Parts: sequence; C-alpha cells; structure tokens
Amino acid sequence: MFPNPFQYYAPQSLDEIFQILDKYGDEAKILAGGQSLLPMMKLRLAAPSVLIDVNGISQWANVNAQDQSLQIGALMRHRDWEHALDSRVPLLHSTAVHIADPLVRNRGTMAGSLAHADPAADWGAALLALKASVAIQSAHRLREVPLREFFVDTFTTVLEPQELLTEIRIPLPQNDAFVGARYFKLERKVGDFAVVGVAVTVVLNPEGVVTDAGIGLAAVGATPLAAVNAESLLRGQRLTLDLVQEAASEAAKESDPITDRRGSEDYKRAMVNVFVKRGLTAVHKDWQLQMDISA
Ligand SMILES: Cc1cc2nc3c(=O)[nH]c(=O)nc-3n(C[C@H](O)[C@H](O)[C@H](O)COP(=O)(O)OP(=O)(O)OC[C@H]3O[C@@H](n4cnc5c(N)ncnc54)[C@H](O)[C@@H]3O)c2cc1C
Repeated sequence: MFPNPFQYYAPQSLDEIFQILDKYGDEAKILAGGQSLLPMMKLRLAAPSVLIDVNGISQWANVNAQDQSLQIGALMRHRDWEHALDSRVPLLHSTAVHIADPLVRNRGTMAGSLAHADPAADWGAALLALKASVAIQSAHRLREVPLREFFVDTFTTVLEPQELLTEIRIPLPQNDAFVGARYFKLERKVGDFAVVGVAVTVVLNPEGVVTDAGIGLAAVGATPLAAVNAESLLRGQRLTLDLVQEAASEAAKESDPITDRRGSEDYKRAMVNVFVKRGLTAVHKDWQLQMDISA
C-alpha cells in the first residue's frame, strides 16, 4: 500500500525544525531512519501530512564520553554498535547484533526506536538495564528524563509533539570496574522482533561483589520493563548460584507477558527466568576469566 500524500522538509538546523513544528503542530512527524514510521504510513496506521527529515542535523551523528557518561546523538544508527565493542558498555554491542537485519540496522536509529516505544524493541530493554536517560528539547526548554520514566504505555512516551529526543545518556562505570553484559533474544526467526528479550549488565569489584546491576525486559509488558526488584537483590552481593536463581525468578515475577500466538504467558515468564540466569552466569564466568588472566 502507498502512504497518504505528505509534504517533505529536510531542515539543516534545530531552529528550522522548531519553526516547522511550530507551523504544523501534531500534523508533522519526525523522520529519522524511517524503519518504523514508513511501514506504519504504508499500512495507513500513521498518516502525518508533514514529514520532517532530521538526517541533516550533523551534530546528532556523534558520540561523546564526558562527565562519566556516554552521550549518544539521536542519529546514531543500530549498526554503529554492531561492530563497536566498548568494554565500559558491552551491552550495546551485545544488543545491536540482535536487531532486525543489516538493512534495518543500517538506517534505524537508537533514538527512533525509543521514541517509537514498541514494547518488543531491543534498545528499550537494553537502555533500561543501563539506566540511561534521554535529553528532550523543544523551542522553549531542554529537559533530561530518566528512561525509567520515559515509557508511558505501548507506543506512548512522555515526548510532546513539539519535542525532539536529541541525545541518549548512559552513565559510565569507574575506569577500573569490571563490566559484564549479555542480551538474549528469543525470536521465531532471525531478524524478527523478540518473543522475549532480556538485557543483563553487571558491574563487579575485584572481590566479585556486585556494585551495580541492570536487568531490562522486552516483549513481556505494555512497555519495555526494568526488573528493579531483581536488580536490588543483586546489589552489594556476591554472584553465587543461589543468588542468580533468586534474581532470575524475581525478574520473571516482575515480567507481565500476555498469551499470544508466539507463546503463552507462562512460557514467556519461564524464558525470562532462563535468560536472566544465563546472563548472570555468563557474566560471572567472564569475571572469573578476567581475574585468572590478571592474577
Ligand atoms: C523488518 C523490520 C524488522 C525490525 N526488527 C526489529 C527488531 O528485531 N528489534 C527492534 O528493536 N526493532 C526492530 N525494528 C524497528 C527498527 O529498529 C526501527 O529502526 C526503530 O524502531 C525506529 O528507528 P528509526 O530511526 O527507523 O525511526 P523512524 O521510523 O524514523 O521513527 C519512528 C518514530 O520515532 C519518532 N522519532 C524518530 N526520531 C526522533 C527524534 N529524534 N525525536 C523525536 N521523535 C523521533 C518518529 O516521529 C516516529 O514516530 C524492525 C523494523 C523493520 C522494518
């Protein structure tokens, strides 16, 4: 199907974007990678009369590490993390390789994925685990919102029609900390959206004590979820087998899946348990290996 007719703008500055937004209000939609918006328009699930293509905003195509945080511009694509293994945030690479296929990864942006707010999106779960926040700008104000307060409901966020998501900020661990992470995704076939997705990231000190833990869940709730109770169980503790099992079953309890043609509620909850256990166990093994190497 073809989308409804629309006017197309390709501004080169934020000022220009805000002028167009001011003129057209919620008739206008931001176009980033187009990998969610254009399929929705073709299916006539979205019919904006104005598209504002933001791909010319060059300052959004950068990553900076400043003030103990990684600042990711709104035009950084999924593929930018596919081949970049940053030892401070290994979860980015671990997640990116699971998103869709190379065509989608080449165009789709992390910011677009968050703004679209699909509960099954892989970045949603991963960035919740990383305790990221987002910078949101309108013509009149700039605000920073923790991602844990960003998702309101399925396909709904705190973004107002006149606002842009300009940057994603991820807190960085201390330089000497060990960080281990895994993203696991159950999918019916490669390139599919998650039936269940689980992001695990853990910071360990040299004694093997968890100083920080993040667990994000995809496709098991109305929005991407953070398993906050499981995270609190882990903090300040050694990663023993008992603790891993306890945290995994707590995360499963915190998930809120529905039964659909991809699987029953019980099955999806069980998969959260399996993936959290697998992620924490893998991180513990990575830490042991690191300790053996540096001994
Ligand atoms: C075949 C296929 C398979 C896919 N599989 C997966 C998958 O396995 N996992 C997964 O997570 N995703 C998957 N996706 C979705 C993909 O990751 C999209 O790239 C992503 O959801 C949206 O990013 P985008 O840059 O393409 O945004 P767009 O499609 O351009 O925009 C999406 C929405 O976000 C808004 N928006 C975009 N940027 C901004 C901004 N800076 N500020 C404010 N609003 C903004 C737009 O107005 C629009 O409402 C798939 C998509 C396709 C087509």
